Amino acid sequence: MADRYDVIVIGAGPAGYHAAIRAAQLGLKTACIDKSLDSEGNPVFGGTCLNWGCIPSKALLDISHKYADAERKFPAFGIKTGKLAVDVAKVMKHKSDVVKKLTQGVAGLFKGNGVDGLPGVGRLLAGRKVEYTPHDASATVLEAEHVILAPGSEAVSIDPTPLTEGLIVDSTGALEFDAVPKRLGVIGAGVIGLELGSVWNRFGSEVIVLEALEEFLPMADQRIARDAKKLFEAQGLDIRLGTRVIGSSIKGQTVTVQYQDKEGEKSIAVDKLIVAVGRRPYTKGLLAPDSGVNLDERGFLFVNDLCATDAHQVYGIGDAVRGPMLAHKGMEEGIMVAERIAGQKPMVNYECVPSVIYTHPEVAWVGKTEQELKRDGEQFNVGQFAFSANGRALAAGDGDGLVKIIADADSDRILGVHVLGPQASELVAQAVIAMEFDASAEDLGLTMFAHPTLSEAVHEAALGVAGHAIHMVNRKKKT
Ligand code: FAD
Ligand code: NAD
Repeated sequence: MADRYDVIVIGAGPAGYHAAIRAAQLGLKTACIDKSLDSEGNPVFGGTCLNWGCIPSKALLDISHKYADAERKFPAFGIKTGKLAVDVAKVMKHKSDVVKKLTQGVAGLFKGNGVDGLPGVGRLLAGRKVEYTPHDASATVLEAEHVILAPGSEAVSIDPTPLTEGLIVDSTGALEFDAVPKRLGVIGAGVIGLELGSVWNRFGSEVIVLEALEEFLPMADQRIARDAKKLFEAQGLDIRLGTRVIGSSIKGQTVTVQYQDKEGEKSIAVDKLIVAVGRRPYTKGLLAPDSGVNLDERGFLFVNDLCATDAHQVYGIGDAVRGPMLAHKGMEEGIMVAERIAGQKPMVNYECVPSVIYTHPEVAWVGKTEQELKRDGEQFNVGQFAFSANGRALAAGDGDGLVKIIADADSDRILGVHVLGPQASELVAQAVIAMEFDASAEDLGLTMFAHPTLSEAVHEAALGVAGHAIHMVNRKKKT
């Protein structure tokens, strides 16, 4: 550890560690401070994403998907398995092993790139001084030319359902169950509610999801959201919209949740309750009163388009600043800030941030939804293609869902791509690349796609914008 750095990053989640590694690659003397400890009390880098977010949840989603396929699909494919059972301890071990490998990977990358990874708490003082308190020693003050704040976010809780060890949990607790709950309640039909609700539903829990809004997935294209809801319900998720949770009580190992809907007051009794009602920026203890950094009215670090805060050469990135709370959005911001510090001029294209919900089928999109464009009075054409007409999807027994491409009516420029289907998370990357290069639907239509692939559904939807998809009858016929 030195006293003086070119760059000090506070927070080693995806935003912070990308910033730190890129800064070091560019020859800047860099330190990255993070206070996270694993369940055994060892310092870990990687933030929420690697330790308690993206990666552990995807480990559970992928394993539970294999289990659900074996149980629900294999018989129809002629594969006999006998009675299936899940060993939750082994599932959790797989998850923890993956997490460990990746978090150790970040520590290795720090070492390999010459980043000083500093376990402990960082606090920004005035004049780009940083108070660093290691876990096992007293505070010292470091100085930096540039400071990057990447402190991330924390789960929101609600008064009617206070977290209660092992019974009423947030997403972190829901990644640690030691047995499959018989009845599971989930508050919030957002990304976490649907992903973790799916995990435990696949392993055999009866899952009830209570959502305050009347609309399902309002941020997604509504055609996609409608179809997704039907599919999730068919899988066994009991999604109750327009519900207001008003209280809870615990008796023995049972949680009773009281809620109100249009019909009046109701209650459910469950073995576990997951509260997944959103996340908020985490800035506790981060800023000295005279740091010069301001928060916006919602508690986010206030930054401009280039992630600069109100303090000279201090930047904010990731979940703690405006924009979607997504790992990849923070990563791009981290790289942009590091490169700008080094004198380069990159920008983040906030128009092209992909969103994915890792259910099965997956929901993924980039750009504008049809309802947004209608609201803005834009003229557009739509091409849609169902996976039920895609050979590869049918071969895999995965024919649910569709690809929807929306293109500007005049220029044909792609404005939004929405996918409900197998590997939608991978398919949407093609759309992101196309949109980054300002492609038209015709450009995608003129591109050759390998056969037989799921990607052909993207190709056909692009052809469908002009009315020439091949494997469906086009509503709009064109020559
Ligand atoms: P974080 O990852 O939260 O990291 C911030 C780090 O800073 C933490 O380690 C924290 O301890 C540390 N820190 C904070 N303050 C200080 C301080 N003063 N001193 C020292 N250290 C400090 N996003 C996706 O894109 N895809 C997904 O599939 C996905 N799945 C998710 C699943 C779950 C269950 C959850 C909860 C989130 C998921 N997310 C997903 C969101 C994703 O995890 C976040 O967007 C991402 O982690 C934010 O990155 P960050 O670097 O801004 O902050
Ligand atoms: P979210 O904003 O996606 O969903 C929260 C849901 O809870 C909303 O539908 C909201 O209407 C509902 N809600 C809020 N208060 C409620 C109440 N009192 N009663 C009932 N419903 C209520 O938030 P999340 O699912 O907690 O996820 C948090 C963040 O983490 C998100 O911003 C998301 O971007 C990120 N995340 C991303 C992924 C991914 O990219 N696949 C996965 C997990 C989490």
